[in-house]
Amino acid sequence: MRKLWKRLKENTASRGDPADRNGADGSILRLTYLVVAVFAAMIVYEGWFLAVRREDTINNSYNARLDSFAERVVRGRLEASDGTALAETIVGGDGGEVRRYPYGSLFAHAVGYSTMGRTGLEDLAQFYLLSSHVNLIEHTLRELMGEKNMGDTVVTTLDPVLQQTASDALGDRRGAVVALEPDTGKVLAMVSKPGFDPNTIAENWDSLVSPDNTSGQLLNRATQGLYPPGSTFKTVILLEYIREHPDDYDAFQFDCDGYYEEGEYTIQCYHGAAHGVQNLKQAFANSCNGAFAYLGSRLDPAKLADTARQLLFNSDMPVALPYTGSSYAMEADAQLWERLQTSIGQGRTQITPLHNALLAAAVANGGTLMKPFFIDHIENAGGDRIRDFRPSSYGSLMTAEEAAILTDMMTEVVANGTASAVKSELYTAAAKTGSAEFESGRDTHAWMIGFAPAEAPRLAVSVIVEEGGSGGSAAAPIARKIFDAYFSR
Ligand SMILES: [Zn+2]
Repeated sequence: MRKLWKRLKENTASRGDPADRNGADGSILRLTYLVVAVFAAMIVYEGWFLAVRREDTINNSYNARLDSFAERVVRGRLEASDGTALAETIVGGDGGEVRRYPYGSLFAHAVGYSTMGRTGLEDLAQFYLLSSHVNLIEHTLRELMGEKNMGDTVVTTLDPVLQQTASDALGDRRGAVVALEPDTGKVLAMVSKPGFDPNTIAENWDSLVSPDNTSGQLLNRATQGLYPPGSTFKTVILLEYIREHPDDYDAFQFDCDGYYEEGEYTIQCYHGAAHGVQNLKQAFANSCNGAFAYLGSRLDPAKLADTARQLLFNSDMPVALPYTGSSYAMEADAQLWERLQTSIGQGRTQITPLHNALLAAAVANGGTLMKPFFIDHIENAGGDRIRDFRPSSYGSLMTAEEAAILTDMMTEVVANGTASAVKSELYTAAAKTGSAEFESGRDTHAWMIGFAPAEAPRLAVSVIVEEGGSGGSAAAPIARKIFDAYFSR
């Protein structure tokens, strides 16, 4: 290309030549060079497109080229980790295609839909579903006969037993559940309620998107629902306290009478219950608001903001599905009321259930966050494996030592604290509950984050029940059912 460019320049430089003959030759030469250059540019572009841009272009909903892929390929299957179909295309005798979701609403938000726009895995896996790796002879023959080839099968990480367990446990209540493997990042379950049936999305579209419909059925609460973290945020406060008091955090002591007063403000423990004298571990296990308001409001606000950022607040998250970013809004010069509120997970801090699951997973995995992922591998329509997705690390959110201290404290929450509902003989769980206030006069959102077994974690969960009451009584029993289902097989 550089040589061509140089010759083009030389040629252009000779334009002032008075000899007509030379001028005519020059024009022909210029034209030739131009054709060659355009042709070379096309080859370079096509190669670049195939190598780099093809995936983006297929994945871009607004690109007309997408239709040309769908005209040549029957959209492939999405499968659960056990091989059952999450989504499949049925081709009728007249060649008409219908996308079916055998599990109905069970995987609605995780799998998504592909008819009224695209969401969930139907969107994330678009490139693979519309690529076909059937063998070359079959592929060519079908193309010659004008028939479509079968798209590849996308085998997900989603586990139907855990998904069903989580969905049944949440029941008719609004909320979300996420379950993932902390050491790999494989997402095994993702439930959001209320849901919808992707099989009838087109018929029900108008009512789903109607302004009168305030239930937010289409919203994936797991990735896009923002909630006050409530006392699950004490995990963050605890980490920052340990960082600021590495040598004497064990010596912390607080005498709780159910109400903590400072300045003109009063912070109440749950239902005004007096916890008595608490050390740090007890204050965390019993979720003592007074102790945490006291110790949290004395933390360095700038350092606390740094720790929150490290834990992915106000940051991009390594999540392939669309998500809403969690926010930590307390400024360094915040007044006492906001510092007290932030210390117990109220105030302006907001988090998604998925983010809270990732925090539990990072603690479980020795401080290192594995990137959550949903696609395990790709097969062609004949079942031959053609691509594997491997676990990958996002990086470390805290040191291994810090993670070990948090694990110890979270284990106490289950053994002698608010998460006794997940105490089991099958496994030792570690957890933190939360009962997050969001509007006065309404019941609190119930939270639990946790993992098990505490000594060698294999499963991390995050549960929220909107207006469920206390985390210990509404969210922990749901987590319990998921752990039981996982560890009893
Ligand atoms: Zn208390």
